[in-house]
Amino acid sequence: MAPLIDMKIGVLALQGGFAEHICRLQTLGADAFEIRKQSDLAQPMDGLIIPGGESTVIGKLLKDLAIYDDLKKKIDSGLPVFGTCAGMILLAREIAGTKTACFGSIDIAVKRNAYGRQLGSFFTEAEMKGVGIVPMTFIRAPYIETMGAGVEVLSVVEGHIVAAREKNVLVTSFHPELTSDNRVHRYFLERIIKS
Ligand code: GLN
Repeated sequence: MAPLIDMKIGVLALQGGFAEHICRLQTLGADAFEIRKQSDLAQPMDGLIIPGGESTVIGKLLKDLAIYDDLKKKIDSGLPVFGTCAGMILLAREIAGTKTACFGSIDIAVKRNAYGRQLGSFFTEAEMKGVGIVPMTFIRAPYIETMGAGVEVLSVVEGHIVAAREKNVLVTSFHPELTSDNRVHRYFLERIIKS
């Protein structure tokens, strides 16, 4: 398949695993750039990735650095966005045990550190709809507890929803950027952005 050379993807680079996402995107031939400050949002972009890390820290930095409002406007107006782990938490409509959400861009309620804090890291391989069997690394991951009718479930592991999509928003509990398998990123570029 031809490389996805014309795409420009912004990767939120305030904290967490942004470098690995950039690496995966570059391997696919996409043009990836870091979003660290408000002026970085002036560049045109075809899609956005919100990486894993610590959702409370990323959420605070988004506000402190005055990135939040502009980014929310872009997502609300249809910018394709892919959130992994903490990124999923930041995109969810509801975070269990809290009153506030961050972007609220996908109609899911998530549970943070859902597999426990200490023993919550594990690796498995499971089916992701539209992609196939993919390697999945979970690190103190959330899962989706409930969701609205417009959300499509893409993967279920041990009875818990770990990947989903609604319109322009794709989320995974796991970290596809931590393996050399590019298919989940390719899915984002081809099925969420190009569609
Ligand atoms: N436990 C983290 C949080 O709640 C997410 C972990 C991750 O992104 N790997 O934000």
